[in-house]
Amino acid sequence: MTTQDPIERLAEARHEFGEHGGVNMSIEASTTFTVMEPGTMPDLFEGRKAAPEGCYLYGRHFNPTVYQLGRQLAAIEGTEAAYCAASGMASVSAALLQLCETGDHIVASNTVYGGSYALMHDFLPAKADIHTTFVDVADLAAVKAAITGKTRVIYAESIANPTLRVSNIPALAELARTHDIQLVIDNTFSPLVLTPASMGADVVVHSMTKFINGASDIIAGAVCGTTEFIQGLMDLHTGPLMILGPTMDPAVASKISLRVPHLALRMVEHAHRAQTFAERLQRLAVPVAYPGLPDHPDHELMRELRCEDYGFGGVLTLDLGSVEKAHELMDALQNTYRFGFMAVSLGYFDTLMSCPGSSTSSEMSDEDLSSAGIGEGLVRMSVGYTGTIAQRWRQLESALVDIGVIEKPLTGAV
Ligand code: PLP
Repeated sequence: MTTQDPIERLAEARHEFGEHGGVNMSIEASTTFTVMEPGTMPDLFEGRKAAPEGCYLYGRHFNPTVYQLGRQLAAIEGTEAAYCAASGMASVSAALLQLCETGDHIVASNTVYGGSYALMHDFLPAKADIHTTFVDVADLAAVKAAITGKTRVIYAESIANPTLRVSNIPALAELARTHDIQLVIDNTFSPLVLTPASMGADVVVHSMTKFINGASDIIAGAVCGTTEFIQGLMDLHTGPLMILGPTMDPAVASKISLRVPHLALRMVEHAHRAQTFAERLQRLAVPVAYPGLPDHPDHELMRELRCEDYGFGGVLTLDLGSVEKAHELMDALQNTYRFGFMAVSLGYFDTLMSCPGSSTSSEMSDEDLSSAGIGEGLVRMSVGYTGTIAQRWRQLESALVDIGVIEKPLTGAV
């Protein structure tokens, strides 16, 4: 593929028609694949005819439908290859296990999704003697200082969950290259907005449960990288996706592929609304953080790195100062005004709100929460696009008035 535009690359990848020429790809329902001659079977097992270029072998290895969705993800991220997994966590785990051996070391951002934190902080040291040093990745000197002779990976999120700090991917990639280690970026918060591989990331992972699928009805993940890396995940002896087996169902791959074509539209609208609400909240002096606000610490960096067609992402945070106030706001927004739902996750068509300190980041110790700047009153809001902006803004403002965060609504805002 020659084009630099993810949407053009995606259009190219979607020119794989269904079995009968259908505009949608077919679902390959088989878990096992026949060979025409008995001699082919040993070739397959010894990797001489590896799927997908050769023959398909077994559904936990490669499946054609899942493979096609993987190609679409590779097109979006601009990587040579990609493959899908049953969850975002399966993708993160598989990528790290593929890159690290027993005794190796990871340098990770101190603000990552709670499950990824638990994987590196608790699971990997206990099960595989792989240890992680967590640092503020905005502090490049700290990242450099944390690298040891055993470090194999720098790990960060493109936009961190939930602090919305933006990683300086080109600088981290440069550091990784200098030390001959790999940069893994979780791009769950910013598909299309940021394309980490184009900035030097070696591996890009996604929880497709979020924006890419967009309907909060499927748990899914993807790993994007070189063909060699993706083939390695499927190695019959040591591939973490093949051996640990977090396999995506082909029916799930088909469903997600029906939502990928409108990912761009959805990302634009999520960001448009998040930007609008963030600006208005700021005018009301509500403590709001959003990378699209000029006073966000990474606003300039994000302007530099992002694809400007897609805004600054669909998530903002409000710091209400105390867990009680945060709960009051979410209660009013859900139960009085029907603005959105109190629920974890993000990228849904309706607004989802949660307090990360006591939910999606609760795996972190109090000390780590505080050094990452995740206060107990922080409300993460994944801004949806149902209803009109005027209607949603009225609901949000009314709830803020009711709980005493603002005195009166903004005049003339809508
Ligand atoms: N990465 C990020 C940034 C996330 O926010 C999440 C889940 O919230 C995950 C990974 C894990 O994804 P999944 O729930 O699909 O396993």
